[in-house]
Amino acid sequence: MADDLTDAQHDALADKLHALEAALEAQLGSATGDGRPVALDTAFGRVSRVDAIQQQQMVKATRHRAQGRLIQVRAALDRVAAGDYGDCARCGDPIGFGRLDARPETPLCVGCQGEAEARRR
Ligand SMILES: [Zn+2]
Repeated sequence: MADDLTDAQHDALADKLHALEAALEAQLGSATGDGRPVALDTAFGRVSRVDAIQQQQMVKATRHRAQGRLIQVRAALDRVAAGDYGDCARCGDPIGFGRLDARPETPLCVGCQGEAEARRR
């Protein structure tokens, strides 16, 4: 039970998640960064082609992050639907409204997030 979230806080966070999902879907559905290969026969010189490739890699990285975030947002919406949103996916403790307000899709409390990041290093 996410007993540290009031109903109003819970609803506000659910609204945020829906807005985030829509924004990320719009971002991923937009024409930029659709993964097209950089054309090798463009009229640009060599240097600008390198620029174009670098730019596309940045777009790809941004897109990759957005996709990852969208997966988390949808998982969080699943938890909202299941009624266990707001609890840490690992230890079950309440994540806390302040943290959820900043990152409503986060599945972990501060402690577990820190551990997960420490293990990744
Ligand atoms: Zn935890």
